[in-house]
Amino acid sequence: MEKKHLRTRLAHTGDVGIAKKIHAGVSVPKVLPIYMTSVFSFDDVPTLDAVYEGNADGYVYTRMTNPGTDAVEEILAAAEDADGALVFSSGMAAIVTSIIANVKSGDHIISSPVLYGGVYDYFKNELPRFGVEVTFVDFEDFEAVKAAVRPETKVFYTETISNPLMEVIDIPAIAEIAHANGCKLIIDNTFATPAVCRPLEHGADIVVYSTTKFIGGHSDLTGGAILSDAENIAQLRRYFTLYGAIMGPFEAWLLARSLRTLDLRMKAHSENALKVAEFLEKHPKVERVYYPGLASSKYKELADKLFVEGRCGGMLSADIAGGEEGASTLIKECPTIKLVPSLAGFSTTISYPAKTSHRAYSPEDMEAAGISMGQLRFSIGIEDADDIIAELAEALDKI
Ligand code: PLP
Repeated sequence: MEKKHLRTRLAHTGDVGIAKKIHAGVSVPKVLPIYMTSVFSFDDVPTLDAVYEGNADGYVYTRMTNPGTDAVEEILAAAEDADGALVFSSGMAAIVTSIIANVKSGDHIISSPVLYGGVYDYFKNELPRFGVEVTFVDFEDFEAVKAAVRPETKVFYTETISNPLMEVIDIPAIAEIAHANGCKLIIDNTFATPAVCRPLEHGADIVVYSTTKFIGGHSDLTGGAILSDAENIAQLRRYFTLYGAIMGPFEAWLLARSLRTLDLRMKAHSENALKVAEFLEKHPKVERVYYPGLASSKYKELADKLFVEGRCGGMLSADIAGGEEGASTLIKECPTIKLVPSLAGFSTTISYPAKTSHRAYSPEDMEAAGISMGQLRFSIGIEDADDIIAELAEALDKI
């Protein structure tokens, strides 16, 4: 056969043939490779039909699914004993999809008011444009939650551990109220992860994650996830594909890598956070510490009931003496614990809610939300706890 031209040779070698060799071979990669392809090819129309109809295994188009997203969904579902999972380009994409799939114009949502800022903005300013109203109620006041229910209420929404005050939500109690009224309970379990709390086991219907945080854990990927039963996943999948919200193959590969060590990391984050919280609680330059694992916390009993092996995760907050000046000094005097307006990497970081996530709040709103100018939120990493404490002790001495 006549030799093909250069462009043709470049276009047609080194892909399908190798892919088929891997497929037919007797060895498989130890770690699933990244399938960095937007689409899959077929030898003939009947094969294409068979895959579309679900009569043959195969992939079609990466906006629908990809081997990498399939793999990470399988790991996530196994982590929480869920029927299935879907992975998204960000936590916000997962959360918005979980809502869109469950409400239509005229419907109503009941939400805790203490939410990640992006979700609060979506509920308060975006959903009303589509005729969906959200009532914010204190989820610790069960009577107020019951009183907020309307015939058109479809969804209850909250976070497992609130930000920045680390309040623990009584998931079984809220689930009971939601189900008695024919509603679904959606829980954002980002701060906890499946290695600290598994909300589906406590009555939640849908669990959402920003996998950008502890599940990713290395501050190198942006992603989100939804976990639920087979019926909800099937319903959510339509919107997932339609809105083009799927996680990319590279992020899926990074996330699968991260999940291998999730349990080890969350154990270390939780043990370190408890040690740091106990240290801060006794320090004269610290006015108050917010961590559900502390014996003095009013959430300790609930955390013991809902959380895995007494773990409470890596997030804690503290009111530093001297208000803004004290908080600023602590930040300035820490050489390795950096000011980072995010959370949940492997190394310890500080965030300043009054200057970042709650910047838009008026002084009155901040006070009502229990956020002070001296309050710092710590994301405790997996370093040696003694070193984290020594660095904080030295910085606190400068206040
Ligand atoms: N949920 C929580 C609790 C968060 O902290 C964040 C982001 O900080 C999100 C959701 C949104 O996640 P993402 O930034 O991955 O969209």
